[in-house]
Amino acid sequence: MTLELTIPKKPHALELDLSQLTAILKSWGEPGYRAAQILKWIYSEKCVDPSKMSNLPAGLREKLATGIDWFLPEIHSSLSAEDGSTKLLLKTATGQFMEAVILRYENRTSLCVSSQVGCKLACTFCQTGKLGFFRHLAAHEILAQYALASSIVRAEGRRLSHVVFMGMGEPLDNYQNVVTTVKTMLRPEEEFGFGLSNRHVTVSTSGLAPKIVDLANDVKCALAVSLHATRDELRTELMPINRRYPLIELKAALTTWQAITGSKITLEYILIKDKNCGLREAKELVKFTSGLRAKVNLIPFNAHPGLPFERPGDDDIRAFQKHLAERSIPAPVRYSKGLDVSAACGQLAAKQIENLTAIPSRKAVVAERVLPQP
Ligand code: SAH
Ligand code: SF4
Repeated sequence: MTLELTIPKKPHALELDLSQLTAILKSWGEPGYRAAQILKWIYSEKCVDPSKMSNLPAGLREKLATGIDWFLPEIHSSLSAEDGSTKLLLKTATGQFMEAVILRYENRTSLCVSSQVGCKLACTFCQTGKLGFFRHLAAHEILAQYALASSIVRAEGRRLSHVVFMGMGEPLDNYQNVVTTVKTMLRPEEEFGFGLSNRHVTVSTSGLAPKIVDLANDVKCALAVSLHATRDELRTELMPINRRYPLIELKAALTTWQAITGSKITLEYILIKDKNCGLREAKELVKFTSGLRAKVNLIPFNAHPGLPFERPGDDDIRAFQKHLAERSIPAPVRYSKGLDVSAACGQLAAKQIENLTAIPSRKAVVAERVLPQP
């Protein structure tokens, strides 16, 4: 007979709301009003360390340190690019890497977060897709990306006002954790959230149609859809998920999302040389957008060794954009920031993971890396 021991997992500080924390404190014989003081440190001061909560008695700080999980990922490396972006490579409690990119603009500071380690969806143009899937990130691990980056930009006199889920992973494949995270980000600071505006938190998806509809019902945030082709055969070639949710289903989901939220949608369209940016594709894209209130972001493909595509020339980019503009579809060309430090989508963590997985067999290392540390 084997005896199975289950060690109860400590709740993480970034996943506790006022009533849950109050209940924990009371169970320790502490006054419930301390819960609000603790959460104020976390959400107003971005302090996720009980030893620094100076208005709490020492005994309570100790109980908090042992009774609650305060783990924040270690900043394994931080690389700044000339364009003002900083790529953070963060090491999780399980020894895996996730990345977050700070994007500094004149009038705002934005954070690109990861929702998974790796991704299951295997888009052919994406480095994260090439890695395969390791695991979902917990809500507290996504929120920790915000808390850590927030402390960095606060020291520069900036406020992290925008979040985009465009790092590693497919957010709607990690649905519940992402919804919990977004709700915490949107909750006002006085109610112990990060106080972001719902127009400033953008979930980017490769098009998991049923989850797009769920999202509209569950939380009011902005939506970006990685479209990249508007003909099924081509989109399936670039994004295998299109076989499961073809364009007709995706469009129906977007129409429903829009009917429920009343908000505009951002369509992301990577321009890949000799693949998806000719006149035929421009016409197909115009057709797809009809009936949607959408803006299109055109993103020239970022080439990497191992990815089979190239970036088109400037003339092709301009011609594609002109076709849309003449039909009143706003389509700015967006160049990915931080290319010199591999800041675009999943690239730094992908490099790190590739380095690690290159050594013995991929499977062996994956098994080692998904096991929690003793
Ligand atoms: N999984 C989600 C969010 C993460 S990917 C999604 O697919 O939307 C974030 C964005 O980076 C997506 O729009 C994706 O298509 C884009 N991307 C991936 N690889 C790229 C590359 N090599 N060049 C330019 N954009 C890329
Ligand atoms: Fe996954 Fe998005 Fe990359 Fe596709 S583009 S593989 S969905 S991270």
